[in-house]
Amino acid sequence: SEKHGGGPAVPEKAVRFSFTVMSVSVRADGEEEEVTIFTEPKPNSELSCKPLCLMFVDESDHETLTGVLWPLIAERNAMKDSRLILSVGGLPCSFRFHFRGTGYDEKMVREIEGLEASGSTYVCTLCDTTRAEASQNMVLHSITRSHEENLQRYEIWRTNPFSESADELRERVRGVSAKPFMETHPTLDALHCDIGNATEFYKIFQDEIGELYQKANPTREERRSWRAALDKQLRKKMKLKPVMRM
Ligand SMILES: [Zn+2]
Repeated sequence: SEKHGGGPAVPEKAVRFSFTVMSVSVRADGEEEEVTIFTEPKPNSELSCKPLCLMFVDESDHETLTGVLWPLIAERNAMKDSRLILSVGGLPCSFRFHFRGTGYDEKMVREIEGLEASGSTYVCTLCDTTRAEASQNMVLHSITRSHEENLQRYEIWRTNPFSESADELRERVRGVSAKPFMETHPTLDALHCDIGNATEFYKIFQDEIGELYQKANPTREERRSWRAALDKQLRKKMKLKPVMRM
């Protein structure tokens, strides 16, 4: 793209890595139950979401991203596995920290969980579906991918223990192609929200075209013709390729 001004070139993209204290719980000595004494009401507000690191880097630049974030991850892992013991007001208190990675966009999740980039056949960051499978079955997604499994799959990808071909190996690890370096908390991201909404509306429009409310049991042929009518309009008026909406 066009350059403005002089000086060294900097990436035109930036990544902000920030954290929010979501909740604080206390458990008294000898008690089973925790009592939550604080819950952040506005976790996305810039007042509560504190930047830890703001860097000029393209998130798809794996080397720079891991280079900059790795000290943060190492610190976080160390905090996860240890307890801080402090004397507060004369009482020894033990502190534990729980981390939850969330709020990353799809591209970032792919990058930090070691998945192939967005154009991948393995279209989803939450489950193992392929693009082709997803276009056939757009109904429900359940979350089946996990950070642990991505790590195991990376080991398989790296070592190829069954001496498979590149294609077979890729199929086995479902598009894991780099070492996952940060655990994300699997939640619905914008992509899945869009797929879900699109699917729902796609069904509703078909039923409306066929005036389903007047019919008890439409045949498959009827349903097919409603879908064809909708697809035709989507193609013609909205310039969409219906099967490619994924
Ligand atoms: Zn999925």
